[in-house]
Amino acid sequence: MAAETLLRGRVLRFVSEPKAPDDHGSYLFDEDGGVLIKDGKVKACGAFASLRVTAPDATLIDHRPHLILPGFIDTHLHFVQMQVIASWGAQLLDWLNNYTFPAETEFSDPAHGARIADAFFDEMLRHGTTTPVAYCSSHPQSAEAYFTAAAARNMRVIGGKVMMDRNAPPALCDTAQRGHDETEALVARWHGKGRAEVAITPRFAITSTPEQLEAAGALARAHPTCPVQTHLSENHDEISSTLGLYPKAKDYLDIYHSYGLLGPRSLMGHSIHLSPREMGVMAETGAVAVFCPTSNLFLGSGLYNEAGLAEAGVRRAIATDIGGGTNYSMLRTLDEGYKVLALRGQKLTALKAFYWITLGNARALGLEDKIGTLAPGSEADITVLNPAATPAMALRHARVETLAEELFLLQVLGDDRAVVETYAAGVARKPG
Ligand SMILES: [Zn+2]
Repeated sequence: MAAETLLRGRVLRFVSEPKAPDDHGSYLFDEDGGVLIKDGKVKACGAFASLRVTAPDATLIDHRPHLILPGFIDTHLHFVQMQVIASWGAQLLDWLNNYTFPAETEFSDPAHGARIADAFFDEMLRHGTTTPVAYCSSHPQSAEAYFTAAAARNMRVIGGKVMMDRNAPPALCDTAQRGHDETEALVARWHGKGRAEVAITPRFAITSTPEQLEAAGALARAHPTCPVQTHLSENHDEISSTLGLYPKAKDYLDIYHSYGLLGPRSLMGHSIHLSPREMGVMAETGAVAVFCPTSNLFLGSGLYNEAGLAEAGVRRAIATDIGGGTNYSMLRTLDEGYKVLALRGQKLTALKAFYWITLGNARALGLEDKIGTLAPGSEADITVLNPAATPAMALRHARVETLAEELFLLQVLGDDRAVVETYAAGVARKPG
């Protein structure tokens, strides 16, 4: 019989989206709780005492008094931009040309890709993120490096080779046919292998010809289980350049819609400046609007309209968008997300925030049967948090009276220092 592991701590997991700051029905919480793990999956989750009775021989790892949650999920970032983060002084389109494209060019070298992919997954695990959804570069070898490094850590990941055949340096451009064929080969090689999924990844309409978006649509039809990821309505210059390239489109979203790229597994990065028509089409098709607050603030792109999107029935996710984003931590992302929404006159409650980076993002990816819940049978991806990790956090923590207050403290002051351990498929993986 395979060995079992029993984690002990204060176990929190969500069952629905919190509708109010104190929506106690939206989560399950065991003050003295446990997660019983076998073969990389959650076998049971609940009160420690009763789990111990059923598994007296399980190896005990005592995380008290820390919080045990499902591993964090980051639904949009660029692993090939690790050396672009913190590049000064530009808006989106200059930033791409001046910093991002030169950095991505280096990924033609497989050794460079392998080195950065290792650094990337170490950084994910250090920050408590167990599932990233990443853009690689246009080189298929960068995707190979990404999936290889993820498999070595047995992580559930989504990634895709960027398709890009214009308005970028020649060294980064594929062609409609080549982008299609390279993506197809990646799907055959990695999609559904272990814990990996391959996303069809046209970067955005500016860098794809109509022929390439047509090819991306063909891939989406041929591989309906593959997610699609791209960028949408991030900043005003981008929107006007895009519409200049696709003059017949009703609006930005209509471009992707007309090529068959919108569906329940479509992740539309940013989705900031959307018209009511676009929101309606997002809602109808089930496409997901991905909020990237640190990136939106850093590049001065605009303020995501969470309440408006919710009211229109649009599915939403939250993400770092490294390297336009400025921190690998989903906790820092929640902090900045709170401020972006505050500027909109909206509120991000602590319960909603922690729902979002666990079950909420899992639902946005259509993966809630596998991750984000700690439910029996799901994959044992787990993050352990210490809300008193720093002297400043400990001082504030001494006055905390409710779980929601404790979560809000983590949301506002937390970062990788608050991450005690990260488990991928039941194995402790946080780098030392
Ligand atoms: Zn992005």
